[in-house]
Amino acid sequence: MPALQPARGTQDLLPEMARRHRRVSETARATAALYGFAEIATPIFEFTEVFARPIGEHTDIVAKEMYTFTDRGGEEVTLRPENTAGVVRAVLSNGRTQSTPLKFFYSGPMFRYERPQKGRFRQFHQIGVELLGVAQPQADIEVIVLGRRILAALGIADRIVLELNTLGDPESRTAYRDALVAYFSARASELSEDSRRRLERNPLRILDSKDPGDQRIALEAPDFAAYLNDASRDFFARVRDALDRLGIAYRLNPRLVRGLDYYTHTVFEFVTSDLGAQGTVLAGGRYDGLVELMGGPSMPGVGWAAGIERLAMLIAEPPPPPRPIALVPIGEAAEARALILAEQLRDAELVVDLGYSGNLARRMRRADRIGARAAVLLGDDELAKGIATVRDFDTGEQREVLLDDLPARLKALG
Ligand code: ATP
Ligand code: MG
Repeated sequence: MPALQPARGTQDLLPEMARRHRRVSETARATAALYGFAEIATPIFEFTEVFARPIGEHTDIVAKEMYTFTDRGGEEVTLRPENTAGVVRAVLSNGRTQSTPLKFFYSGPMFRYERPQKGRFRQFHQIGVELLGVAQPQADIEVIVLGRRILAALGIADRIVLELNTLGDPESRTAYRDALVAYFSARASELSEDSRRRLERNPLRILDSKDPGDQRIALEAPDFAAYLNDASRDFFARVRDALDRLGIAYRLNPRLVRGLDYYTHTVFEFVTSDLGAQGTVLAGGRYDGLVELMGGPSMPGVGWAAGIERLAMLIAEPPPPPRPIALVPIGEAAEARALILAEQLRDAELVVDLGYSGNLARRMRRADRIGARAAVLLGDDELAKGIATVRDFDTGEQREVLLDDLPARLKALG
């Protein structure tokens, strides 16, 4: 019988990779805390309507990528494809709209039915932040700076470029949309089928197309800059000035749009060329209309999400966990005593691996395999004398140690 396989697009995080993921999420959590962002955890599934309307029915996510099903009670639910809508839903459900600004950090699995490739999975993980209730560009700047500090803390900032664009306010966006429709309509026959569909519903997304033919046509498309009204132009200038003053380099990318419908003003991505086609590690922007769209008050917001799998591939090997002490009892009496001794050593915060069974040679082989710092041998003779034999694997030395002294002596090994 063939061995059971994980579902397509999912993967097991074996300990080495799990450690990389944890390094990413813990670094991000600690850095976000420096900016006063508190962790929030929302359910990994929601009523489908939580995502469908906010994300937009014509986006790839809603049209093709959602894991939606009817549960046993007949409810339409969806595994979350992203977390902004869930966070906003949580703010509304818990009546937290009065105490703005709200600053949240999250980390967890997301689900999208996509074609799996390197750096693209059906279950993947994101860290992200949301800053709600601040209309000023200071909020855009702070979340970008926070993103950058996380990349720096992970040791990868110099391999990643910040790309920046603005989608303007709704008035500018409408004017630009009309210009794009006019431009692309004239060349509709050259567009991919997907983009011909986008032309009707979501023309900005054509700029984001991955089809090489579309990309060629998009190169000549009108620039948003020409359609920005004064307020939108001023907003963007303030974001850029602040980044300049903070010494944060960026590249303006007029083709940068976001996959989701609710973005306004600032959009940004942190991009690397070290991961092939899946080069965006962190992406976000301002979403001033979202809260209202979801039935809340008018409340601006800005945030980003980053793919943990992609970041985990970029970072250096995290430091290994502390080496364990292998406790090797020989004989029944020693085994009984070893259970208690192991707990005493753990009280002293030593990592202890207890040999459960097998003869001495077998247990020593295991101690070697797990990279133990030392082995503590406990037999009838040792028990009678109230000692243990400690073998230091680094020096090869072996000596007898009083059981009472054991925690201190093992700690001293380092
Ligand atoms: P793409 O254009 O690559 O599909 P997207 O616009 O759908 O990206 P976002 O919704 O902005 O991506 O998600 C933010 C980040 O989450 C991405 O930049 C990426 O790092 C990560 N991400 C998104 N989808 C996946 C996936 N299927 N597998 C792994 N990581 C992903
Ligand atoms: Mg996508």
